Amino acid sequence: MQTYDYDVMVIGSGPSGESAALNAAKHNKRAAVIEERPMVGGGCTHRGTIPSKALRHAVKQLMRFNTGRLFREIGHSRQIPYPTALSVATGVIEKQVEMRSKFYARNGIELHMGQASFVDDHTLAVRGADGVTEMLRARDFVIATGSRPYRPEDINFTHPRVYDSDTILDLKHTPRKILIYGAGVIGCEYASIFSGLGIKVELINSFDYLLAFLDDEISVALNYHLRDMGVMVRHREEYERVEATESGISLHLKSGKKLRGDALLWCNGRTGNTDTLNLPAVGLEADQRGQLRVNRQYQTETPNVYAVGDVIGWPSLASAAYDQGRSAAAVSRGKETVRYVDDVPTGIYTIPEISSVGKTEKELTEACVPFEVGRAFFKDTARGQISGEDVGMLKILFCPDTLKLLGIHCFGAEATEIIHIGQAIMKHEGAGNTLRYFITTTFNYPTMAEAYRIAALNGLNRLTGS
Ligand SMILES: Cc1cc2nc3c(=O)[nH]c(=O)nc-3n(C[C@H](O)[C@H](O)[C@H](O)COP(=O)(O)OP(=O)(O)OC[C@H]3O[C@@H](n4cnc5c(N)ncnc54)[C@H](O)[C@@H]3O)c2cc1C
Repeated sequence: MQTYDYDVMVIGSGPSGESAALNAAKHNKRAAVIEERPMVGGGCTHRGTIPSKALRHAVKQLMRFNTGRLFREIGHSRQIPYPTALSVATGVIEKQVEMRSKFYARNGIELHMGQASFVDDHTLAVRGADGVTEMLRARDFVIATGSRPYRPEDINFTHPRVYDSDTILDLKHTPRKILIYGAGVIGCEYASIFSGLGIKVELINSFDYLLAFLDDEISVALNYHLRDMGVMVRHREEYERVEATESGISLHLKSGKKLRGDALLWCNGRTGNTDTLNLPAVGLEADQRGQLRVNRQYQTETPNVYAVGDVIGWPSLASAAYDQGRSAAAVSRGKETVRYVDDVPTGIYTIPEISSVGKTEKELTEACVPFEVGRAFFKDTARGQISGEDVGMLKILFCPDTLKLLGIHCFGAEATEIIHIGQAIMKHEGAGNTLRYFITTTFNYPTMAEAYRIAALNGLNRLTGS
């Protein structure tokens, strides 16, 4: 009979690791978490979701102040330096770390601060900041080590004008013009943030459209609003080389263009954090993106080693990571059926924000699924008019015969919140998933959620031709 220090040892204290450890502990398993940063919370709390969303909130407040009619009367338009806007994130990070540290303490989860690497399939070496290594044994492991920005070798990230999404949080001044290479979710979010601060932005996209996985209409709206905020969006461009000097950055594109700026933010891809884990010791190998393959139970090819969160790739979202961690811990304690997370809403915190669930118009058309569309524009809602947040739209795609909801796409204020109303209805099996819900239910007034009723009526009117 083997003896172990723990039933489950989780490597990484981001959302996926935290939820795995909590789930195990709540079910009376001996759980431990290994974290190489000095504080818990993961990349999510320290470099990703939390600081970027806190920064965005500060920028949104500034934009409201500068564009609101009321504020215009009491003062001139203001600008705030980037480091000042960023400073609001520090307080939020502290609160998150404090709260999450308590979760571990309250649930009897032991924390080991240090870098973990496998010795064999039941032993982990944990090397602390003081250089001391301790050996810990567990029955099962959950790899929840997250990801980091991908850094091409030909770009010098030690140059003070070159940043990625981690190091941009260390920028100590306000650039006049920033070049953002990579127009994925992170690139688009930072383009909104910097332009909201009054900084000139060039956003370089290698593809034909922004965030091509979105419904076309939403992607076009994002493009329009970024341009409206002053962002220069360049599609179908690829970099050839980056020239960083004391006086500025030049980004040479394959098309022959040369873009100049004060700083470069590189947002082109991410790499799984697997290189320090000594994976061969447990018979595993990461792919060329540093990611691990898992089955629908979150098991790697070594059955007592699970992997969750960014380290397994798509969807690489904190939202999904929480659910994946819980599922992996449940399998580890013997539960046979768990939720495999393959159905997640999109939440994109550009300004204005975007959210969607279900199919896009393009996907439905390509699959030859007939659909009808109902739209509500936020400018036509009382709440939008009152709050001044009148940019945006809610669009419902539904089956013209059964009225089943097929997709919901939202752009504008509170999109990431109100999407969940539609998601809840879409989740119903059979007749419960119906557009009729929105016209047979009374919505608070005035609310942004009321857009569902307006969109549903619009869609039904389209069916009857009225
Ligand atoms: C700029 C930005 C904005 C984002 N915005 C959103 C958003 O709005 N919504 C959303 O849902 N998602 C967002 N994400 C994605 C989200 O942050 C990640 O999906 C999430 O952090 C993944 O969680 P995780 O638990 O897999 O890993 P992480 O949060 O990265 O945590 C992994 C932890 O493992 C530790 N670790 C790594 N290797 C070792 C080792 N060998 N030993 C010990 N510890 C180790 C790391 O130090 C880290 O603390 C954003 C990401 C970025 C970069």
